[in-house]
Amino acid sequence: MIFTEEHEAIRTTISQFIDKEINPNVDQWEKEGIFPAHELFKKMGALGLLGINKPEEYGGMGLDYSYQIVFTEELGRIRSGGVSMGIGVQTDMSTPALAKHGSDLLRGKYLAKAISGEYVFSIAVSEPHAGSDVAAIKTTAVKDGDDYIINGSKMWITNATQADYLCVLLNTEGDNPHKNKSMVIVPTNSPGVSFSEKLDKLGMRASDTAQIFFDNVRVPQENLVGEEGMGFIYQMEQFQEERLYCAAVNLKNLEYCIQDTIEYVKERHVFGKPLLDNQVIYFKLAELQTEIEALRALVYDAIEGYINGEDVSLKASMAKLKAGRLARVVTDSCLQYWGGMGFMWDNSVSRAYRDSRIMSIGGGADEVMLTIIAKGMGIAPSRKA
Ligand SMILES: Cc1cc2nc3c(=O)[nH]c(=O)nc-3n(C[C@H](O)[C@H](O)[C@H](O)COP(=O)(O)OP(=O)(O)OC[C@H]3O[C@@H](n4cnc5c(N)ncnc54)[C@H](O)[C@@H]3O)c2cc1C
Repeated sequence: MIFTEEHEAIRTTISQFIDKEINPNVDQWEKEGIFPAHELFKKMGALGLLGINKPEEYGGMGLDYSYQIVFTEELGRIRSGGVSMGIGVQTDMSTPALAKHGSDLLRGKYLAKAISGEYVFSIAVSEPHAGSDVAAIKTTAVKDGDDYIINGSKMWITNATQADYLCVLLNTEGDNPHKNKSMVIVPTNSPGVSFSEKLDKLGMRASDTAQIFFDNVRVPQENLVGEEGMGFIYQMEQFQEERLYCAAVNLKNLEYCIQDTIEYVKERHVFGKPLLDNQVIYFKLAELQTEIEALRALVYDAIEGYINGEDVSLKASMAKLKAGRLARVVTDSCLQYWGGMGFMWDNSVSRAYRDSRIMSIGGGADEVMLTIIAKGMGIAPSRKA
């Protein structure tokens, strides 16, 4: 990856924004269990940060995905995974399919306002009985005149209690689970849409997560993204950006974990010397930093392929898998070196330990990534067999 002055300008803008507008507030947002998405997204929208790789006609910058990944990497500086995840849902999880396949009408009405930060978006795929197995979702949309009538529910939806619009994956016509799915934009103020209380989570505390219920919700058919029956494919494409996002956001996040730990073990004296002077500790930290650098190389390699129009589902899955695994090792190892201080709730490393655990579960669990990789290698048994 070669970064130009334009890449660096985006890096500087987002890092200054994080230092001024986000990091000073994250402790409070963690305590409140929510960050103010509307307020924050409008500020980010005004700087153009929510549409870096989105079309210029709708207010985006029209840049390629290498610029978006610089933005994502900098989001790793946010000292609360819940806030970066909420932003990532807006930019990389709920709007890529709309930007790529949505009609001009839909993009003018919704994408433009997601980019300006006026509308907060959620991606609603998972259901109480279908997370890893996306094809098994049960929410339906049945045609009635010019409308769809939607029934069902979605589980663990990020930004849900603040969202204005949901990008919903649901079943339209037919029995083939890979060909009967469609993507529909649903306004959250539609009659029949309701939400659970905010869900109480192990980590990502500053992000609001909820279950959503659809009870005979009427939405115009013009809210269909792209073609009916193509939803599964669109979601698999959209997952590529989600997975690249997950891997890239981890990089600086984990580096901060190591840096914070180095500062601590330099100062902390045990058995008459700084903890850092134990070879077992400085070797481990050196090895973990090396692993992060290797992950960065894989992420950049996948991004280069993505920009060149290659199918990078394999590399994106490898990067997501590695990021989830590495996040567990780095945060656990670092927490150990903090001793009792690492077990304290407000410690930066203990927050990273809690927040990063979702990396191996959300957006496709490690085992789902391994299945994709094994299929790509031709070593996974087919479903029929
Ligand atoms: C904080 C948070 C935020 C989320 N945000 C969103 C969101 O915004 N939108 C959204 O749609 N969803 C969201 N999710 C849901 C998330 O994507 C799912 O939790 C995830 O896909 C896993 O699905 P599941 O929980 O149903 O696990 P299950 O599918 O029940 O799987 C359970 C476990 O089984 C294992 N497993 C799965 N498949 C296999 C296999 N083939 N072989 C071996 N083991 C396997 C994995 O370890 C997995 O963790 C969020 C979840 C959380 C916790």
